[in-house]
Amino acid sequence: MRYAACGMRLLLVTPPMTQLNTPYPATAYLTGFLRLHAADLGLTVTQADASLALFLRLFSAPLIERMAHILRARARGAARGSSAPESIAHFLSAAERYVDTIEPAIRFLQRRDPSLALRIVGRAFLPEGPRFAHLGMRAGGEPGALDEQLTAAFGTLGTTEQARYLASLYVDDLADVWREGIDPRFELARYGERLAASAPSFEPLHEALEDEPTLVDETLDALTLELLAQHRPDVVGVSAPFPGNVYGAFRIARAIRSEEPSVRLVLGGGWVNTELRALREPRVFDYFDYVTLDDGERPLLNLLGVLGGRRSPLVRTYVRKNGEVALETDATQQDVPNRATGVPTYDGLPLERYVSIMEMLNPMHRLWSDGRWNKITLAHGCYWKKCTFCDVSLDYIGRYDRASTDLVMRRIRALIDETGETGFHLVDEAAPPAAMRALAKRLIDDKLSITWWGNIRFEKTFTAELCGLLAEAGCVAVSGGLEVASDRLLDLMKKGVTVGQVARVTRAFTDAGIMVHAYLMYGFPTETAQDTIDALERVRQLFAAGCIQSAYWHRFAATAHSPIGLHPTRYGITLRPPPSITFAHNDVAFDDPVGTDHDFLGAGLRKALYNYMHGVGLDADVRTWFEPRAVGRRAPRQRRRRGARATVPRTTVPPDLIERYLA
Ligand code: SF4
Repeated sequence: MRYAACGMRLLLVTPPMTQLNTPYPATAYLTGFLRLHAADLGLTVTQADASLALFLRLFSAPLIERMAHILRARARGAARGSSAPESIAHFLSAAERYVDTIEPAIRFLQRRDPSLALRIVGRAFLPEGPRFAHLGMRAGGEPGALDEQLTAAFGTLGTTEQARYLASLYVDDLADVWREGIDPRFELARYGERLAASAPSFEPLHEALEDEPTLVDETLDALTLELLAQHRPDVVGVSAPFPGNVYGAFRIARAIRSEEPSVRLVLGGGWVNTELRALREPRVFDYFDYVTLDDGERPLLNLLGVLGGRRSPLVRTYVRKNGEVALETDATQQDVPNRATGVPTYDGLPLERYVSIMEMLNPMHRLWSDGRWNKITLAHGCYWKKCTFCDVSLDYIGRYDRASTDLVMRRIRALIDETGETGFHLVDEAAPPAAMRALAKRLIDDKLSITWWGNIRFEKTFTAELCGLLAEAGCVAVSGGLEVASDRLLDLMKKGVTVGQVARVTRAFTDAGIMVHAYLMYGFPTETAQDTIDALERVRQLFAAGCIQSAYWHRFAATAHSPIGLHPTRYGITLRPPPSITFAHNDVAFDDPVGTDHDFLGAGLRKALYNYMHGVGLDADVRTWFEPRAVGRRAPRQRRRRGARATVPRTTVPPDLIERYLA
């Protein structure tokens, strides 16, 4: 097939579900880059966000009405005495009000109808389901489980913020109904995630795609056909950044295949780059013609050249040949350097329709889901690239390529011109401090006023002076890895920081007026229950000392491309024999002879953090957050059945440890 004579139309799509508040940047970057080559290739490039489109369609009056119709019919046919989940029962009791209020509520969350705040905070406008229980004082009179401190924190918000929080709970209630009543794969930020995350076989995903469609599936199929009619593409590139986009990506490809079999389909994105490096499943190519690995610029440029009739070699591109998967690549072809990737563009995306959700009252934590942020990077990859749990062997971490400050400023100015927005999220793996300093100086010198935040390493370069400079230049928040909050384990993971250093750096940020979020990790190889409890105590002290304002505890996973996954015995663990892998490969199962019960500890860690982020329980003993039962090595089954007594260890960390570090 040759397109050069008549021109080739390429449509780049973000599949559902990703964040709702701002576009995921992959298609914006690729669109900006490919438009540099559009004239040469005879190419027209457009982009679409099917994730936002699906959300807006599902959360519209006609679809809420259809959902109510299905659930009512199901309730009528249900066996006598059986009861629906609370979310569905409440929805059906107030379905008409949901239909009447959904579109005003979404417009409000899109910031297109601010005056509605006054009605929402009156608590009589939106129906209030189970997600409101913690606030109590339901409009219907029934008090929920009142959490006094949370309610007090809620009371300190302004009217607009209170209304956004309430409208977000309302959306969460409806999302629960979609998931529990219509499609168990649907969540606001992911769709069918389990079918793709480290899925060794394609079969479950294939079965789901061939199964009877749910109303969510039908809606996505219909949206896909609308995109086809609107853009009339010759080639569709689908970028799946996470496992929670993969089912949507394949569903979109399936709908396009059946409607317009001549359209060429390409799959790429972060999930492909990490999980499809050992792809052997030929059925993937029933849906896609090409699957590209790592940065999309070079593979797409060459592929579009080939589709246009040129003799360019394919680069890191899987195809199906003679019924088998083959990786076509040409090692002489270089990746496109940062300086030549152009300026990202959101052209074609409906920026005024993104929806800001405020699920947490914590002002730092909600940055991820609240507000429209232009996304830029200061560098490709990570300048540190040593952490033993990280995918340092892969291109997206391992190939460091810093953009010049001139280029970053050009991108910032172009994005402000295009979007009218001056909020920027630096989506670097870890923004280099030297680049941040240079950017801050230039922003100040050029008197360009923007608001920005981003991901960093808590390294000692961030002195009080640098933090002050960053704040003066508009930096409002940073996030970084404190990980296991234990010097022994930080050393084992080659993080290059200590808890004392993190305390001093985070305090310098906070003193400069910059909010701090810490990524935490538990379940690291050789981590004992005592390690975890002591880590929680250090985290408690960091919150109490005002060093950090927000945090999230991730469960450690050994990944195939990290130093731990590649050399497990160096870290004291043994990998379990892998299953036969023909499809996705990322997390690898392992045994740690230490045998700590991380499942049990994780629940307490999450509870503690949730409270700390609301300023609650900061002076309580950290053992408070754990259910009374035995920890340490996994309790033998017989002992567990008898109900072992509470033995969460007392912390060995001095109560003034962080204060001493700060002194
Ligand atoms: S965890 Fe962060 S700092 Fe460490 S190598 Fe990976 S990206 Fe770099």
